[in-house]
Amino acid sequence: MIKKIAYLGLGTMGSGMASNLLKAGYQLTVWNRSAEKCKPFARKGARVADSPADAARDVDLVIYILSNDEAVEDVVLGANGILRGIQEGQIAIDMSTVLPETSLRELEAYAKRGVDFLDAPVFGSKQESAEAKLWIMAAGNKAIFEKVKPVLTKLGQTVHYFGKNGNATAMKLVGNLIVALELEALSEGLVLARKAGLDLSTVMEVVKVADFRSPLLASNGQNILKRDFSTGFALKLMLKDAGLIEKFAGNLRSPIPGLRVVEKNLKSAVALGFEKENASAVIKALEKEAGIEVKALSAAEAA
Ligand code: NAP
Repeated sequence: MIKKIAYLGLGTMGSGMASNLLKAGYQLTVWNRSAEKCKPFARKGARVADSPADAARDVDLVIYILSNDEAVEDVVLGANGILRGIQEGQIAIDMSTVLPETSLRELEAYAKRGVDFLDAPVFGSKQESAEAKLWIMAAGNKAIFEKVKPVLTKLGQTVHYFGKNGNATAMKLVGNLIVALELEALSEGLVLARKAGLDLSTVMEVVKVADFRSPLLASNGQNILKRDFSTGFALKLMLKDAGLIEKFAGNLRSPIPGLRVVEKNLKSAVALGFEKENASAVIKALEKEAGIEVKALSAAEAA
């Protein structure tokens, strides 16, 4: 049974997940590149490790969620990386959004040390992470999946098993292709509605109930109308994922014409300085082109 867990990467997603592991009663070790993010966890009884190698010592399971493929390479394979501390019989789980080929490289590196590895990326954002309501996909050895499933269920509301390593990462990129196109559809739709002079609050009421509704459209649409672009899923991460999807789909010769349009708009939004805002700030690229701003009318304007 898993009792001791090391959690690495305490960013937007990792901080909520690590908190939920502490709440669930696991003995937790934490590590983050910027050490100050470990302090709240130390106050709640977690051990703070000096390095990824140190974090991996003496635990049953090592979990990490990091920005991108390069960060994963650094933290796993780097000079003081996880592989320098982890031992035969331990388990590692990468929950970051990376290329399936990165997951396979991790699998190979861990296998040489006798360590079991799962790729287990997530859907959901800051709020779902904090509330243990993520949607988790996992891939790798089935027996190992069954062993860690009780831990994953402390982080998410669903856990789907995807078979061989790399498949969960592939599913994450499939899902984020859909997310990117939904955000583009919402942005184009709201800009057009604003140009047509429609009442945007009523537009969102319809978007929330019609047969094309989705929680993602509802929450992002509401926030756009409030001009709230505080970061749940950073625009720069959406652009990073667009690059991953392009490589992944390119290798498989799978057409992604819509994604290319979104990628262009994401790059325009970055050029306008919005990379640290939420991914929904992609609408700002379209707003600039249209010469308008999408926001709910004040009571006085609506009267
Ligand atoms: P974030 O807030 O930017 O956090 C990124 C984490 O990675 C931080 O802990 C950061 O450390 C660490 N990191 C980055 N580069 C590193 C390096 N070279 N070496 C060591 N650590 C490094 O990102 P996030 O939103 O939590 O996302 C994390 C992952 O989850 C990404 O792959 C993202 O695509 C995926 N994801 C995000 C969401 C979302 O809604 N946010 C949803 C699903 C999946 P520092 O604190 O030192 O910078």
